Amino acid sequence: MQLEFLGAAREVTGSCCLVTVGGRRVLVDCGLVQGGRDEAERNAAPFPFTPASIDAVVLTHAHLDHSGRLPLLLKRGFRGPVYTHAATAELCAIMLEDAAGILAHEAEWTNRKRERKGLAPLEPLYDRDDALAVVERMRPLAFGEALDILPGVRVRLQDAGHILGSAIVELWLDDGRRRRKLVFSGDLGHVGAPILRDPTPVPRADLVILESTYGDRCHRAWDATWQELAEVLEEARTGNILIPSFAVGRTQELLYTFARHYRDWGLERWHVFLDSPLAVKATAAYRRHLEVYDSDARRAQRVAGDPFHFPTLRITETVEASIALNRIRSGAIIIAGSGMCTGGRIKQHLKHNVWRADCHVVIVGFQARGTLGRALVDGARFIRLWGETVRVAAQVHTIGGLSAHADQAGLLDWYRRFEGGPPVALLHGEADAMDTLAERLRQGPASRVLTPLPGERLDLAALPDNP
Ligand SMILES: [Zn+2]
Repeated sequence: MQLEFLGAAREVTGSCCLVTVGGRRVLVDCGLVQGGRDEAERNAAPFPFTPASIDAVVLTHAHLDHSGRLPLLLKRGFRGPVYTHAATAELCAIMLEDAAGILAHEAEWTNRKRERKGLAPLEPLYDRDDALAVVERMRPLAFGEALDILPGVRVRLQDAGHILGSAIVELWLDDGRRRRKLVFSGDLGHVGAPILRDPTPVPRADLVILESTYGDRCHRAWDATWQELAEVLEEARTGNILIPSFAVGRTQELLYTFARHYRDWGLERWHVFLDSPLAVKATAAYRRHLEVYDSDARRAQRVAGDPFHFPTLRITETVEASIALNRIRSGAIIIAGSGMCTGGRIKQHLKHNVWRADCHVVIVGFQARGTLGRALVDGARFIRLWGETVRVAAQVHTIGGLSAHADQAGLLDWYRRFEGGPPVALLHGEADAMDTLAERLRQGPASRVLTPLPGERLDLAALPDNP
């Protein structure tokens, strides 16, 4: 009985854990590495196991750093089911297809260069068919519903409140000699966040696998966060406002909040452009899954019909409509992906706005090291866009409180709901965040805190019995 930490160990992307029990093998998440120079190489590298030997996958949520390598797993021989929430399956259909499109585009670009050098073309990591084939393997599980997925392996998902359909995974293992219960936090939501419920407390575990993205930080209170965003809108009298935003989660939170504060934030005087086909599709998925809304969102839905709509919202579906936004000098709020400015339509908008002193860039999400978004947050005076150096004159605002991740207090509070302070392994955090959280946990209730290295294995039979 063993757990292998294969991804997101001392970093924030590429989530992947392998659980082996009585000869059965279950993967929890299979995500893409995102950011960093060697990202493409690492994603294309062989899996550290034989894909055909994996009996089942349990997927916490649809973000690509958790789901994005699943099509490759299938392409390389995996033939089992993928257990996940129905909303995650729906979001994966959108996001994995989009990822396949980006990979095809990148391969085309690389291959044009390779051809000029007389090198053989490279195949994209996977294509649209691989992406859709994975979605067909998804078996929906409702929150709170337990299922025996293999002999000696039972799974139950609980609401993690991070994005639509995001789950905490409870995994009961029995190899005939010993029983162990693992609880994977997945990405844990931020208490009080709009639309979704707060992360579900889980009372019992023999080992908790806890994310630590914000293990060294505390978010601002929600009221202060909304106030900060309202002030940016108030201050910005001329020019445009760019909001690089994740298509799934953050964008819906922004639309929902803009709809609720339409009058008091003076949104009548702006045109708000949602310039992301992916976000448009994801918003449609949010509209279909009212069962995961919190009570405020249910009320908003009953009262307004569509909690994500307001009169000045415009959707730009086509590339032409997106390019037409380049001509607007003032009065536009443009919400576009990608969330860390590593690709997508936001780069185009940065090119046309970031050098103008009357423009604003509002950062509303986590920015990984090495990304263009992080450079903006860190106060870069120049950025590189398609090989061109562009001056940063726009004001860059970081609204930290809007994170979809629990902060240090949120992580500690969720952990404290476990009885008896079970051992905890920290994942999904940069080294500083992880070490700080580890220190806090060691001072407090945790009996043992691990910060595993990539590839590290843990013998689950050696964990203390927690009756
Ligand atoms: Zn996530």
